[in-house]
Amino acid sequence: MEYNAKAIEKKWQKFWEENDLYEPKTDKRLPKKYILSMFPYPSGNIHMGHVRNYCISDAIARKLRKDGFNVLHPIGWDAFGMPAENAAIKHKTHPKTWTYSNIENMKRQLYSLGFSFSKNRELATCDPIYSKWEQSLFIAMWKKGLIYRKKGFLNWCPKDQTVLANEQVIEGKCWRCDTLVVQKEMYQYYIKITDYAQELLDDLDTLEGKWPNQVLTMQRNWIGKSEGLRFAFLLENKIESIESIEVFTTRPDTIFGVSFVALAPEHPLVKVVLDNAEIYGISKEQKAQIVAIQNTSEKERSQQEKIGVPLGIFVIHPLTQVKIPLWVANFVLISYGSGAVMSVPAHDERDYEFAKKYHLSIIPVIAPRDSKSQATDFYGESGILIHSNEYNGMENEEAKAKIIEYFEMNQLGKAVVNFKLRDWGVSRQRYWGTPIPLIHCEKCGIVPEQNLPVSLPEDVVIDGEGNPLDKHPTWKHCTCPKCGGKAIRETDTLDTFMESSWYFLRYTTPQELRQGEIFSHEDERYWMNVDEYIGGIEHAILHLLYSRFFTKVLRSLGYTDSNEPFSHLLTQGMVTKEGSKMSKSKGNVVDPEEIITQYGADTARLFILFAAPPVRELEWNDSALEGSYRFIKRLCVKTEKIQKIRSLPLIQSQNLNEQEKYARRKVYEALRKYQETFCHENGYAFNTLIAACMEALNALNEQENIEVWSEGYFILLNILEPIIPHICWELSQQYFDLENFKAIRLDEDALREDSIMMAITINGKRRGEVKINLNTKEEQILQLAKEEVAKWIEGKTIAKEIVVPNKLVNFVVK
Ligand SMILES: [Zn+2]
Ligand SMILES: [Zn+2]
Repeated sequence: MEYNAKAIEKKWQKFWEENDLYEPKTDKRLPKKYILSMFPYPSGNIHMGHVRNYCISDAIARKLRKDGFNVLHPIGWDAFGMPAENAAIKHKTHPKTWTYSNIENMKRQLYSLGFSFSKNRELATCDPIYSKWEQSLFIAMWKKGLIYRKKGFLNWCPKDQTVLANEQVIEGKCWRCDTLVVQKEMYQYYIKITDYAQELLDDLDTLEGKWPNQVLTMQRNWIGKSEGLRFAFLLENKIESIESIEVFTTRPDTIFGVSFVALAPEHPLVKVVLDNAEIYGISKEQKAQIVAIQNTSEKERSQQEKIGVPLGIFVIHPLTQVKIPLWVANFVLISYGSGAVMSVPAHDERDYEFAKKYHLSIIPVIAPRDSKSQATDFYGESGILIHSNEYNGMENEEAKAKIIEYFEMNQLGKAVVNFKLRDWGVSRQRYWGTPIPLIHCEKCGIVPEQNLPVSLPEDVVIDGEGNPLDKHPTWKHCTCPKCGGKAIRETDTLDTFMESSWYFLRYTTPQELRQGEIFSHEDERYWMNVDEYIGGIEHAILHLLYSRFFTKVLRSLGYTDSNEPFSHLLTQGMVTKEGSKMSKSKGNVVDPEEIITQYGADTARLFILFAAPPVRELEWNDSALEGSYRFIKRLCVKTEKIQKIRSLPLIQSQNLNEQEKYARRKVYEALRKYQETFCHENGYAFNTLIAACMEALNALNEQENIEVWSEGYFILLNILEPIIPHICWELSQQYFDLENFKAIRLDEDALREDSIMMAITINGKRRGEVKINLNTKEEQILQLAKEEVAKWIEGKTIAKEIVVPNKLVNFVVK
């Protein structure tokens, strides 16, 4: 058969669509599988990363359908976000127009690859109906006290009068106008993810072996549980209403080594001091330094050199009553703990660096166990306490517990558990997002909107200056749902991570049920959890953590019974070319559409799955692509080789010659590989499966038995269908009336090898090997072996003959 990829692929894509073949069935007694790739952002065109992502999930979905599972394999669009607004500024298009036309284009591209998506589950997160349910969820969380409003610091461009996202700040300057960015304190909405910190941490244990270890570790570190002591240093002199500085430490065992206390520049005490700089002897330069740190985002600070300013104010050490200086430092963050830390330079690297720079005292309080000499300048290990009064000589772990006990007994402090995880700031001052459904009423305060969805106005000016919603002449003016008075709509929109935290739940519910409810409980119960979730490792923390969190919140609110959303997680590797990630700036991008036009979708799919196992990086290789194309052409065999059959023929092995048996064995080995490959534990190593299929096809070509050919072909098309579906459907229709697309049983008989190679050794030295049919008698084996090594035993006496079954024959000669 001539291989015309374009015509074949078009034909089958049409057939699949017209016959609704990939729509999940409504019968909920069927065993189900929910296979999901992380949904794409509609940037305009698909890239190789998308192709790889969906090639993996589509292969799994297709295999499971053949095994009799009811499969949900949906697609949708993570459609809100900044690029649409940037495009609006740059190209004067409307974000909505831009987004929906991108979706159309990418949908066309994805369907041209033959992916078996459920059409009836598609969604775009910018659809008003999606906003409606997200807003209802927001209100439910608001009412439950899981969302609160407080002031926080944001990147602010003073010239454009607008809030900037971290990625819009380039080297401290506005991406648009190059103005120095400052930190501005503004109201923001936060979700209390910290309420679930312990549960999010504990439940990671249930994902052991099902999620990559790397991801579990990253989440554990991000949640960052630590146990320690919270206590306060009294100020030497009260400053306005502030009497003490509260700190949290995980190292109470080093408390006698405190040589300074460091504050975040946003600490309330710093504000008082700056407002009265003259009184406290803060120079203009020092004030400017502190303000400069304040105007740097936390992320930037973490990458900067440690800097600080002394405040000339002292606190009292709670155990020694010694005076300790207060400093403002750029490494202390207001968002972590109380925004103040006790600094112990002798045993903390960061404090050490800072103390060296500013010539602060360094007091060693822990010494190595095995050395009688004084500890050196810096010592980061465990050991025994020194310079620590009654705790001297104690193991530091023991001292930690004793010191906490002392603080608690004397009501000086408290043992606490602290998490690095912070509450999630979800408000954004931009247009292209889900509007926050709250109303500000002078009389009633903040009131939830009652008519959902709150939709975005379409007539907006997007020019990069200010928040378009806030600038809109009428949109924000409304009436209070509670008192009917004049009120102002919230003009912030939601972080797009909100939408991606529950889309997989929404997918469970078909279109016709989506108007009336967020998701149908019956459908959600049937489909959840996602059995295999596939996506990039770059989502290891935020998206996956937020999705786990939302699932738990939705469970608490009674929406779902699921506790964890994703039973298994597969993180695919990057697609690279010439060793680096494909990117426009590097000029190493391969456009999937060009590959499809030139070779067809099946070649693209085969190459992608053959080039590397899913978890590994995939290096683009033009000659391997050509090789994939040639294999598909070879698969289109001559008609006369195949008998038209509708089920597997019964083949008796004993009637076959060596080559025929070998060909059958290779086919069944490929089938066995197929059954092993599609399994999370085996990492879906499609590359070895494809290699086995190639070997099998070669072996079939080495023999001429039509029955063996037909059987092998019947099986190979079945195995390859999840990978190269179009050509498999075409050939299968031609020869088997599509009757071969179901689970096929292994024929153990075909897998049995009937001959083996045995090694021959003489006096322990290997001298040759011999092919022996199974069930050959020992005498005969010895006879054959002797013939094989005749020249080595000629004229010698055999003193001993040993046969180790299926392995070797040994002769001892004299
Ligand atoms: Zn600017
Ligand atoms: Zn009101």
